[in-house]
Formats: sequence, C-alpha cells, structure tokens
Amino acid sequence: MKQYDLVLLPGDGIGPEIISAAMGVMHAAASRYGFSLSAEEKAIGGCALDQFSVPLPEETLERCKAADAVFMGAVGGPKWDAVPGPLRPEKGLLGIRKGLGLYANLRPAIIFPALKSASPLKESIIGDGLDILIVRELTGGIYFGDRGRSQTEAGIPVAYDTERYSASEIDRITRVAFDAARTRGDKKAVTVVDKANVLESSRLWRECTEHIAREYPDISCNYQYVDNAAMQLVKNPGQFDVILTSNMFGDILSDEAAEITGSIGMLPSASLGGGTLGLYEPAHGSAPDIAGKDIANPLATILSGAMLLRYSLKEYAAADAIEAAVTAVLDAGCRTADLAGDQTAAVGTREMGRLVEEALR
Ligand code: NAD
Repeated sequence: MKQYDLVLLPGDGIGPEIISAAMGVMHAAASRYGFSLSAEEKAIGGCALDQFSVPLPEETLERCKAADAVFMGAVGGPKWDAVPGPLRPEKGLLGIRKGLGLYANLRPAIIFPALKSASPLKESIIGDGLDILIVRELTGGIYFGDRGRSQTEAGIPVAYDTERYSASEIDRITRVAFDAARTRGDKKAVTVVDKANVLESSRLWRECTEHIAREYPDISCNYQYVDNAAMQLVKNPGQFDVILTSNMFGDILSDEAAEITGSIGMLPSASLGGGTLGLYEPAHGSAPDIAGKDIANPLATILSGAMLLRYSLKEYAAADAIEAAVTAVLDAGCRTADLAGDQTAAVGTREMGRLVEEALR
C-alpha cells in the first residue's frame, strides 16, 4: 500500500479544529482508495512564537521540506497583535512559502449549485455553478521589482515600481497552469490574462505562453486583457476554466473571483513550487472570534485537502471523490453557521467533517 508523508501545521485560532475535521476526511479518502497517510504536526505562527520564540522554527521548515505535502490551518490572532514586525505570526507563513520555493498560487473559485444564493451574481449568470482556477505567479513581478522615489527638477515627488519577469519565471508558472488544466474538468482551457497592448512584460508573457502551449495540444489557450477579464468575471464567468496571470493581476482577480463565490469559509488554496511538494490551506484566516466553539466551516480546508491529493500526491480519484462528497452534503442541505439561514439548524465543525466522511464512504 502506498504511504504518503504529510506535515500538518494547524496553527492558531480555528486552525486545529478545521485541520482535525479535514484529516478525518483525508483518512477516509485514503482508506477508500487504497493508500495511507502519515501525518506529523509541527508548530507555526502564534503557537510557535509561544513555544519557540519564533513564528517559523527551523525544525518546522526542515521537516516540511522532507514531506510529500504540507497541510496548514491558519496563523495569527489578537494575542500576538502587539508582537513586533519580524516576529509576527504571519511572517511564519511568508517564511514557509519562501523557504519551500512556492512560486505558484492556485485559487479555485467554486460556486456549488446548492450555494448559488450566497453569490452576489444573478442565478442566470451563474448557470449550473462555477469552477474557475486562478493560477497566480507569486514570487516575481511588480511586488518584487526595483522600486524607489526621486523628485522632478521642480521638486515634485516621484515614485516608481517595476514590473519585471524573466522568461524562465513565466515558463515555469505557465507549465503549472497547463498541467492543472489537464487534471480538471472537460473544458481544458487556459486564459492568459495580461495587458499586452501596453506592457512589454505582458508581451514577453505572450511569447512564452504561446511557446509552452504548443507542448499541450489537448489544452486550448486564449488571451484576455486584464480590464476585460475583470469585466468578464462578473458578466460571463462560466467561460473560464484556468486563468493564468502575473502576481499583481492575480492578486486582484483572485479576490474578485473569491467574492463572487460568496463565502470565505468555502475557498481552498494551494501554493506549488518546482516539484510535487505543495502547501495547502484555506483562503481564510484564523477567525479568532469563533475559535474553540466548534462552529467554523471546515469545507475550505477539506477542499484544500482535495487539492493536496490532486497536485502533490496525484491521487486524482480520491480528490474528485472528496469534492463530490462536499457537493452531496451541501445538496442534502447541511450548512455550518456561516452558510445557514436558520442558525438553529446549523451543524458544527466536527459534524460537517463527519458528514463529508460519511458521504465519501
Ligand atoms: P479571518 O478570515 O480570520 O476572519 C474574517 C471573518 O470570517 C470572521 O468573522 C471569521 O469568523 C469569518 N471566518 C473565517 N473563516 C471562517 C470559517 N472557516 N468558518 C466560518 N467563518 C469564518 O480574517 P481576519 O479576522 O481579518 O483575521 C484574523 C487573523 O487571521 C489575523 O490575525 C490575520 O492576520 C490572520 N490571517 C491569517 C491568514 C492565514 O493564515 N493564511 C489569512 C488571513 C488572515
């Protein structure tokens, strides 16, 4: 039997509750599909600060580097709000992304048919539901380019930030997007979002992506300017399968796409690097206001687990089964408090995890 080595980083706030619920589902998927998961917990964020005086202990990073995949809850909370900058819990998160060389951020925006009413978009626009994957370059572009300040001869302040990409940075993120398009549904399409009518860096993106697209004859490739893409996301989101874009455009478009799904408790994410090792976490934070109450929605974390199975472990059937089980549980009307209209009928974190496990079996 295949055995995979996971490192769990539950972190702070609701982190331990949602990771625990999600791991129940992961083990159920493993036993149904004939593999097993070993899972070792390590400290990150505020709890690491309390225990080891740093938000990312060296031991945590080294252990993660040796794992098949890293599964994280969330970090941070009011207890550590007064901690100085370099020691803040969030630095642990930035440190692990950098330390593991994770340059690709994958953010699916999914509207489950049963949750259509949670979206701010009209049902006629959503159609049968939505399933878009945004692949955002995470370690290059304008957020990392040369920046500075000067002034004009007249003494007027000037500031600049530089959008800079190398062909190798574009090539590697493009392959992530096309590989992802292969492992998803039937659309098998990549939309490259850029501003090639204005930016030289976007024109290099087009040259590189056109070149790589030839290696993927089974995937269609098309191009949209970012201003049009922002409009199309709310006008006709069903046209998209995988959106591939730069760091800043991806930052903006992934928040727009997240908003159209209507619920922060439902959004998974993956950060990938050169090999199969990846970091998987819900898109939301540690929700300290509801921590320890067994009311947090574990579905974003459970869906992040499905991404882990798909992208790091290549257990595609198990990943699909988890997503189908989540759909079945939502179709049956089960809701955590954040999704429930009638709060008295809401199920808790543990119960939601158990219901998904049951649907999976
Ligand atoms: P948050 O995402 O933690 O919470 C925002 C709101 O959404 C809260 O009302 C919360 O109760 C709710 N919410 C979040 N996840 C939920 C879930 N699974 N189920 C039900 N409701 C949920 O954002 P915030 O309040 O701005 O930040 C809280 C802490 O989390 C801060 O310390 C922040 O720095 C940290 N944070 C961490 C990450 C991360 O670890 N990746 C991301 C964002 C924020």
